[in-house]
Amino acid sequence: MNSAIPRRRLRRNREVMRMRIRGVIGISTGSKSNPGRRPVQAQSMLWRNVNNTQDTLLYNARIGSDSNALLMQGGHITWVGRAGEQGSRCSSTGQPDDARILPRNMGGRRLLPGFHDNHVHALTLGDLAGRPDLTGLDEEAIRRVVREALVAEGDTREPFLAFGWDYPGWHYPHRRVLDDISADRPIALFQFSGHGACVNTAMLKVLGIDERTPDPAGGVIVRDSDGSPTGVLRDAAANPIHQKRFFRLNMNRAGLRERFLKAFEIFNRHGITSIGDNTWLVPSVWALNRMRRRGELTCRVHSWPYGASRIAARTMALAYYDGALLRRGPWKYFLDGAFSTHTAWLCEAYENDAGNVGTPVLHGDQLSSVLGFLTRRGLSGAFHAIGDRAVKEFLDRSEATATADPDRFRLLRHRLEHVQIVQQTDIPRFAKTGVLVAAQPHAIGDMEKDIRLIGETRARQAYPYRSLLDAGAALSFGSDAPAEPTLAPLEGIHKAVNRDSNERVSVEEAIRCYTEGSAYAEGSEHWKGRLEPGFVADVVALSKDIYEVPAEAIRTIKVDETILNGRVVYSRIS
Ligand SMILES: [Zn+2]
Repeated sequence: MNSAIPRRRLRRNREVMRMRIRGVIGISTGSKSNPGRRPVQAQSMLWRNVNNTQDTLLYNARIGSDSNALLMQGGHITWVGRAGEQGSRCSSTGQPDDARILPRNMGGRRLLPGFHDNHVHALTLGDLAGRPDLTGLDEEAIRRVVREALVAEGDTREPFLAFGWDYPGWHYPHRRVLDDISADRPIALFQFSGHGACVNTAMLKVLGIDERTPDPAGGVIVRDSDGSPTGVLRDAAANPIHQKRFFRLNMNRAGLRERFLKAFEIFNRHGITSIGDNTWLVPSVWALNRMRRRGELTCRVHSWPYGASRIAARTMALAYYDGALLRRGPWKYFLDGAFSTHTAWLCEAYENDAGNVGTPVLHGDQLSSVLGFLTRRGLSGAFHAIGDRAVKEFLDRSEATATADPDRFRLLRHRLEHVQIVQQTDIPRFAKTGVLVAAQPHAIGDMEKDIRLIGETRARQAYPYRSLLDAGAALSFGSDAPAEPTLAPLEGIHKAVNRDSNERVSVEEAIRCYTEGSAYAEGSEHWKGRLEPGFVADVVALSKDIYEVPAEAIRTIKVDETILNGRVVYSRIS
């Protein structure tokens, strides 16, 4: 008999028992109902159990404004200072004061706290890494890539999915283009944001969509002048394809691990040590837990349930979270769609789509009822809101909900995700209500495209980071990967600092948004996001000093090493 089986069972039973005890005595480890109030000492104990690491001294480094050495013990930073000075833990040549500590020469590199991406879809990122990439392709190239991929996959009736196209490349997506490639294999090609797809006739049949099908709430079935679907589905109309894909991935235990490993490898390569993840289903949490036990979880994961499915969200609450590498995150909701698919909910119509103000998803009394539910349960929410009307709706409903107990409302740290355009009068309302802004500077960049979509005035006021910071809003940064072509934090910082707008921020502010800001957004700012004693030893080493290179060269900086919990998880240093 295989002795591993009883051990595994025992471990699972132990986890279930711990969970039950927590439920009974009311402790919710690292959840938003108890947002990380665990004292640093207790965290240390936990860490030693989770991951034993070699105590290491990093010397000949640049840390803060005048430190050059940092000591990591038991997964925590225990000392930061100058080598050789009085009270130092090492000599001027980097020799530690304890022979058990391993000295490492960092070659004068700049060290920052590990980057914390405030919003990703890790499983989808890992899944995409193995699928054809349509980023930047025109119609001809899309035809070629899809044809080749179908031939390579051989004889199967499984739906074919690929991601990444966008309108400037593929002006008139239509099912005819895909019907030419295959009349009987269902095909769905997602636009880069994930908020729209072009599908062939076979896929429309699978979805049960024809000319008589009405638009679903929060979605659009784009139609030809005769009323027949063009094959372009926006937001809720394309959701069933996402849901099926996501469900199938979650049912495949080996596939889950493989895809998460791929995603974590990408995160670590870019210096990311923490993510806010749209995890949504409990098998993914189980997979992350299995990886944690094997030492394969190389990124801290704040796992978000999907609020629109209360059963799925409640099931996720029953999973085990260790409170350090794996924590339970806010409930995720959608208030609107995306700019590029004309579904972000705006106060005034799109510039190139007269009369269309976008597609609200969760709004009105339903939104109030969700906010009331979360407040009563002491839960935090992460609300996707791109358009200024969606933002205003959320702030209106938040103020109304907060009236009874504004302090309690503030403590929950509800977050608005993306917030790409905000009316000037709404900017001070974030600090007033305590609603956080979780932004993704990767979305900045194509001003021409934004002007085409929302006109010059609004495009110039979009992504108002400077105004939000000046108004005292809590701002954090991330990528929304894989909905943007890159997730590199250094690229995000580059864009936030170098944009041609009064809304640009300083290098220091952008770094803070990517570290402390994201830690604050998940309630872990007292133990993560800074290179200081008592904080976890999550560190990134850069090839050039980000504070010294000219701002326009930030994107040329490379991540040389990523350290999680005192352990090197990625390195280019020989
Ligand atoms: Zn997202």
